[in-house]
Amino acid sequence: MSRVSSFLASEAIERAGVSLDAVRDALPSVESDTVFVRQAGMIMRRTWATGVLAVTTPWGVFAHPRVMWWWQSGSNDRNLAELVIHELVHVEQLNNVGLVKHATKYLSDYLRARRAGLTHQQAYLGLDAEIEARQIARRVVASV
Ligand SMILES: [Zn+2]
Repeated sequence: MSRVSSFLASEAIERAGVSLDAVRDALPSVESDTVFVRQAGMIMRRTWATGVLAVTTPWGVFAHPRVMWWWQSGSNDRNLAELVIHELVHVEQLNNVGLVKHATKYLSDYLRARRAGLTHQQAYLGLDAEIEARQIARRVVASV
């Protein structure tokens, strides 16, 4: 079997039984059938903290090989859909405020939390952008 190196966000969402309309309602500026999830290369992944499964950039969503395996094997459809929708929330956030503003707030919130003594994991989980992404993804997936 050949290895899959990309898939469309909408394919993973629909395969888990989540309606694309529900995603559209939650994320009006995102067209999930135009967003590719691609396997992140080794050099990119070297910059990721341990445990990171995917990163959203203005050029698309990049995922850990484990996520590509979820897609290929169909072994974890619900978690895959939740992860993909989480990343689409970040696409929406980028669309709404623009890359520079989004990245500046993300980074300054993170650094403020680290200076206040939080661990990397605590600081990351506490970011407004991450809280919103988790809440929306959980809500949309729970609706099926
Ligand atoms: Zn996130």
